[in-house]
Amino acid sequence: MEKNNDFVKQITKKSENLSKWYIDVIKKAKLADYSPMKGMMVIRPYGYEIWELIKGNLDRMFKETGHRNAYFPLFIPESLLKKEAEHVKGFAPEVAWVTIGGNEVLKEKLAIRPTSEAIICSMYSKWIKSWRDLPLLINQWANIVRWEKVTKPFLRTTEFLWQEGHTVHSSYEEAEEETLKILDIYKTFAEKYLAIPVIPGLKSENEKFAGALKTYCIEALMPDGKALQMGTSHNLAQNFSKAFNIRFENKKQKIEYAWQTSWGVTTRLIGALIMAHGDDSGLILPPEISPFQTVIIPIAKGNRKQDILSEAKKIYDKLKKNKIRSFLDDRDSYTPGWKFSEWELKGVPVRIEIGPKDVEKKQLVLVNRINRKKIFVKQDNLLITLKKLLKEIQIDLFKRAKDFRENNTNSVEGFDELTETIETKRGFIKTGWCGSNKCEIQVKEKVSATIRVIINEKNSNSKKCAVCGKKAKHTVLFAKSY
Ligand SMILES: [Zn+2]
Repeated sequence: MEKNNDFVKQITKKSENLSKWYIDVIKKAKLADYSPMKGMMVIRPYGYEIWELIKGNLDRMFKETGHRNAYFPLFIPESLLKKEAEHVKGFAPEVAWVTIGGNEVLKEKLAIRPTSEAIICSMYSKWIKSWRDLPLLINQWANIVRWEKVTKPFLRTTEFLWQEGHTVHSSYEEAEEETLKILDIYKTFAEKYLAIPVIPGLKSENEKFAGALKTYCIEALMPDGKALQMGTSHNLAQNFSKAFNIRFENKKQKIEYAWQTSWGVTTRLIGALIMAHGDDSGLILPPEISPFQTVIIPIAKGNRKQDILSEAKKIYDKLKKNKIRSFLDDRDSYTPGWKFSEWELKGVPVRIEIGPKDVEKKQLVLVNRINRKKIFVKQDNLLITLKKLLKEIQIDLFKRAKDFRENNTNSVEGFDELTETIETKRGFIKTGWCGSNKCEIQVKEKVSATIRVIINEKNSNSKKCAVCGKKAKHTVLFAKSY
């Protein structure tokens, strides 16, 4: 029998080194592994099950708002990618190219999609003729390749999974409304399912998507005080429709260029989820997105062994019937203590223990992953108590993350205070900004922090730009970022 229950000693403490803890947890909890291809990871079943839950919930939200899924080719001919000048300039350094097919050198090289605007727009120009064809609301679930120099599992990998929405509208206002609707879906999803509080807002010109008129994003703060961009929604205006000739006849029988949006989230969300909630013992997964919401561990000893096992099976069946995702860990080859450590490492929100005394008293023990508090519950009350506990854990994780963000957001005035706060405290630094590229770059060069998001605040005009001292146009959050 495997007796080593010192799992926890094998992982770096989160409080000591987040970066090492992050890798340890991913490997030990079997979320992902490095592959023979540098910068490319293998997503193992436990990690992929989290992705399936992310995908399932987002897909439902997209469909509820009228979007439909489609699939476009992996390769994009060079000539198509080059059509929108800003777009190709922005992506050129990260594109992987196919130059040989079979044994033949290709006449035109093919990009492996770094994003699909070019291929999708080339099709939209064929499909869209009239205002009656609009709006066109399409989403694609796919893999993407960007040739990254520095990679980290889930957060930045050469190949990653994502969804990309590409919509077409008959007016600027409609496209803007769509861009904001999706931003709101992303915010709701991040907060309600991942239990990660996010700040929605606009990107600066420096940070926006190559080819977009405007990029909106949701930004979260990680435990090391660095910001993480969790999703983006772009108003492309007519930039791509002009490059790809997507035109339609409007209601007044005039031909005009269409208005477009694109938006996406990636497997990076799993990286955020890992970092935001775990502790020194491993992962903590929010119940809404945990592959297993509970693990049932029978403590089967002596002559009651069979009773305990059959009781545990009954509980498992009951939870399954009530759509609570559970795992019955009745493996004989591991001690209960070993199992406790393993499932804590894997971040399952609630552990259900059942031993000889519990069978006698017709009770169960529920253990909360966040604080390890034990709750003794009569078998008849299991469902009510468990559902309540899962809800509480979901709320507590969100609240913890939100408190952390609030305690690590500082308002500053002036360049010295701005750069010093970034160096000493990290976190989100709130300040006024005049809107000039030059001022933003000056901060980047000094302390390698950028404007993560422009937030709407009524009193922005009363502030001064932290860099040049001129009257501020916006309130912004600076931070170092992933
Ligand atoms: Zn300025």
